[in-house]
Amino acid sequence: MAKIMVVDDAKFMRVRLSKLLTGHGFDVVEAENGEEAVYVYKAEHPDAVLMDITMPQKTGIEALAEIRGFDPQAKVIMLTALGQESMVVQAVQAGARDYVVKPFDPDRVMLALKKVLG
Ligand SMILES: [Mg+2]
Repeated sequence: MAKIMVVDDAKFMRVRLSKLLTGHGFDVVEAENGEEAVYVYKAEHPDAVLMDITMPQKTGIEALAEIRGFDPQAKVIMLTALGQESMVVQAVQAGARDYVVKPFDPDRVMLALKKVLG
C-alpha cells in the first residue's frame, strides 16, 4: 500500500488526515514543519505528500522546493487556506501537483491522491 507523508504544524490537522488515510488503507508518516518534512522524506521515501504551506522552521513552499531538488518525481499536494492564492501559484511553479483548500473535504483529498498516484 502507498505511503503518504502528512506535513502540518497543526497537530489536529495531522491527526485528521492520518485517520482519513489509514482508514483508506494507506501507510502514513508525519512531519510537523518544513525542515522535518525534508528529513522524513529522505528517510521514508513516501509515494506522495500532503503539505501545509504556512509552517515554522521552513515553509511548505521551501520544503517542496528542496524535496523536488533531490527527487524531481516527488508527488506533493499542498494544503492551503483561503486567501493564499499567490502562494498556491508559487507552489505550483515549484512543482506542486495539486492543492486542497482547508478545511478540507475528505473526498477532495482522496481524489487528489488517487490522481497523483496514478
Ligand atoms: Mg500551518
